Amino acid sequence: MIPKDYSLPKSETGLYRILVVLGIFVVFLITFLGLAFFQALNDNQINSSKTTLNKQAELASKQIENRFTAFYDDMVFFVNNLEPDTYAVNDNENLAFEKRARRIFNNHRDLLDTVKVIFPNQAVIFHFDNRNNFVKTFFDKQQLSQELGKNEIFLNNESKNVAIRAIVNLERFFIDEMTNYYLGISGEKLIYCDGKLLGTHEQKLKKGFLIDEKILEKIAAQVEEGLKGDFSGAFVNQNEELEFEALIHHYPFSIYPIKSKFTTVFVVNKNVVTSGIFSTHFYLILALLILLALVILILFKSIKNSQVTNEVLSKNADEISELFRRQALLLHETKGFIYFQDSDGKMTSVGREVKGILGYDTEDFALNYKKYISKKDIAKLEKAIEVSISNRKDSLSIELDFKTKTGKLRRTKIFERLEFDENENFLGNVGICTDIQEKYETEQEIVNSENRLRAVLKSLPDLIFIYDNEGRYLDFHVKNKSLLVAPLEGAIGKKMSEILPESLAKPIQQVFNNTIKTGNMQTVEYEVDIPSGKRLFEARFFRLDNDKVMSIARDITGQKLWERGLMEAKKAADQANLAKSEFLANMSHEIRTPMNGLLGIIPLLETTHLDQTQKDYIQIIKDSGESLLNIIKDILDYSKIESGEMTLYKSVFNFKNEIEKTLKIFSGLIKEKDIQFSFHFGQMVPEYVELDKEKLRQILINIIGNAIKFTPDGGKISVNISAESIFEKNVILNFEVKDNGIGIPADKIEMLTTPFFQLDSSSTKRHQGTGLGLAISQKIIELMGGEMIIKSEFGQGSEFTFSIFGTIWHKDENLDVNVQEEEELEGFVWKDMAQEFPLKILLAEDNSTNLLFMDMLMIQLGYVYDVARNGAEAVRMVKESDYDLILMDIQMPVMNGLEATQVIRKSLGNKITIVGLSANAFQEDVDQALEIGMDSYISKPLKINEITSIIRSCSEKIHIKKEVN
Ligand code: ADP
Repeated sequence: MIPKDYSLPKSETGLYRILVVLGIFVVFLITFLGLAFFQALNDNQINSSKTTLNKQAELASKQIENRFTAFYDDMVFFVNNLEPDTYAVNDNENLAFEKRARRIFNNHRDLLDTVKVIFPNQAVIFHFDNRNNFVKTFFDKQQLSQELGKNEIFLNNESKNVAIRAIVNLERFFIDEMTNYYLGISGEKLIYCDGKLLGTHEQKLKKGFLIDEKILEKIAAQVEEGLKGDFSGAFVNQNEELEFEALIHHYPFSIYPIKSKFTTVFVVNKNVVTSGIFSTHFYLILALLILLALVILILFKSIKNSQVTNEVLSKNADEISELFRRQALLLHETKGFIYFQDSDGKMTSVGREVKGILGYDTEDFALNYKKYISKKDIAKLEKAIEVSISNRKDSLSIELDFKTKTGKLRRTKIFERLEFDENENFLGNVGICTDIQEKYETEQEIVNSENRLRAVLKSLPDLIFIYDNEGRYLDFHVKNKSLLVAPLEGAIGKKMSEILPESLAKPIQQVFNNTIKTGNMQTVEYEVDIPSGKRLFEARFFRLDNDKVMSIARDITGQKLWERGLMEAKKAADQANLAKSEFLANMSHEIRTPMNGLLGIIPLLETTHLDQTQKDYIQIIKDSGESLLNIIKDILDYSKIESGEMTLYKSVFNFKNEIEKTLKIFSGLIKEKDIQFSFHFGQMVPEYVELDKEKLRQILINIIGNAIKFTPDGGKISVNISAESIFEKNVILNFEVKDNGIGIPADKIEMLTTPFFQLDSSSTKRHQGTGLGLAISQKIIELMGGEMIIKSEFGQGSEFTFSIFGTIWHKDENLDVNVQEEEELEGFVWKDMAQEFPLKILLAEDNSTNLLFMDMLMIQLGYVYDVARNGAEAVRMVKESDYDLILMDIQMPVMNGLEATQVIRKSLGNKITIVGLSANAFQEDVDQALEIGMDSYISKPLKINEITSIIRSCSEKIHIKKEVN
């Protein structure tokens, strides 16, 4: 559609060059033709002049000859008719003779000068005198000279003895003859005779004008031969200066009986001959010259014009090109196309961009565009056009939807420029159709979001006001008018000071001013007295845009009251929490201490002689005690987890051994329930691992314990442990515990990790438990960097999988001594160990149950030991005798275990091994004890294994020391 180049085509510039050359050629041609024409005219003039001259010369010569011949014939006749005795006879005769003589004179007046008639005895002379009287004179014959004069002709009539002597005036004759010929003012009619020119136009000859000598010589030669001739030569003046360039023609003639040879010489000024042409054709020349000048002028003008036009054209073309380029760019950018329509609305042309925008080919669109306008818009468009035409508007703009080729609606904007003729008849229009779909969607979205916002604002219980920058109300959204301090009617356009009570207007105006000044949101709380009573509001002022500020005021009376209540409740809760913690700690201590005694004594009791029933009872006590301890442990654990106090204590240990040991715990139960139990370690499972062994054991015990618990007798349980190492040192350990037990309904699975959740929570439930196990396990798993996934099918069985994160160790690395020790402890016989590991032991303990338990244990182990009833006593006793090991209870009257340890360490250094004993099983208690100077710490209820292992290592230490010393 758009021409690529609007500069003039090359062929056109070539044409102009050709025109210029042609113009110059025409000028030359005209000049040449003009010159040639004049030359031709000139030549023609000269030639015709020559011919005329020639003719005239010939005519003149012949006329002279004829006239002279006629004269001579008359004279011959006259002489022949003479009678010798004319005068002698009578007068009549005389008269006749004289008459004849007079007639001859009359006939040849110019030629004849004198006639002498010679009779035998006398002579009569006739001539005209000066007064033109015909005079007759008689002479004696003898008086006449014998000699003939130069111009005298002699005619003799011998028979009658008469003769005539006629004197002719040739010069006059010639002049007279020549007057018959007109050669123009410059013409000269001359007679050449015997090397001399006779002027017939005397003035010039008199002035001494001459024909060039050389030409004269040539004339003489030709006359001698009797030839006529013509010459072009100089006509010189007396000083032999050139007077003019002449055309010279001569025609020879002879007059009998005069012997001389004559020629008529006609001379004309060549310039005068040709000058006639110029004068004759002067206007023609002038016209030609003017024409020439005009042609040149027109040519020059047209060249100049065409140059200017060219420049303008090329400039315009550039501008048009640029305009088209910009227009194309603009159309491309604005996603538009142009179209033209005639007065009937027929589309005569469409921009090809239509294809990219609506998908139609131009021809298709031009023909069917009306079909492609959405139905709801077609009438709108037609109406708009009709109105515009009838109102003679020169443009119209409208938005409408087009159906694209793919069938979607596309929003477009139509801008049409209408054209009318001088009579205001509609001629047609040019239009631009622009795709504004995106803008339209955005606008729609804005409108929608504005509507939404409005709906939100309307539904808000808050008092919303919009102000201008001067604090005048522009708009408001108030749902509950009973909250207003002043009525809103007529508020729009007024300032807040005009509406609000003064006490309120001032502080609020201040906040408003701050909002304007800082541009930041400002908050203010204020109290108002409204019919429903005193109420507290919180108002936020912020800029909506450069010209508007919005305030949202909320009734916070209730909130304030609530806050106050909450504060109090929180305080109470904090206190309750503190009480709970204290309660838990105390409970832990208080329950553990008796449990310690209870469970500690059982193994000792088992070693005594018992019948089967007693053994069974003891087993029940043992189980119940352990389960109670577990419950307490769980509750404590969960409360710790909840308060975020749970920490991991990592150690390096033999992983597979540890797992197997844990699994062994269940061997009794498994056997009891006749469960098909299998476990498997994957290839990648490392031998030594660093992680919190106890926590892992806790998880496993819980999950495997559940599996056994919820799998009926004869069921199947499998445990699979696999590992994936990452970055060599790290390992992810995956555990999978599968059972074919009772399973869990799908909708309950998610609930399992909620504390205290149990599927069967009835008081008659078959299975024991707190519902904390999985909740704790999940938290610990998360703490260890893993996650737990539970899959189950009700009635089919469950699958618990979890992964934890650990560090791989190798045997050749510096493994913790504990690992070795632990391994060695396996199968250790503790009875009467005092013999093998002798030690002097002090037990600081105030609780009598514990004392009883310890007493029983020590007896079994074979140790004699001292007892201190409190810390102070212990300090004193240490000073008095040498102890190797002090088993120090933490909570004691007078001086507690920690204080006592501090004192002992101060006075005796690290000589004595001090081991803490406490029901306070929290790790921070252990940490605190170790920090103060205790060597290790055992939590109650005391386990025989733990005590024996401590005694053993202490004894060995002393032994090694001794050996070294
Ligand atoms: P507890 O075992 O002390 O009740 P848990 O948190 O360990 O508490 O388990 C919560 C509940 O999840 C159990 O009471 C039981 O209903 C269900 N549950 C746990 N493990 C299994 C299992 N392997 N098969 C069926 N139900 C199970």
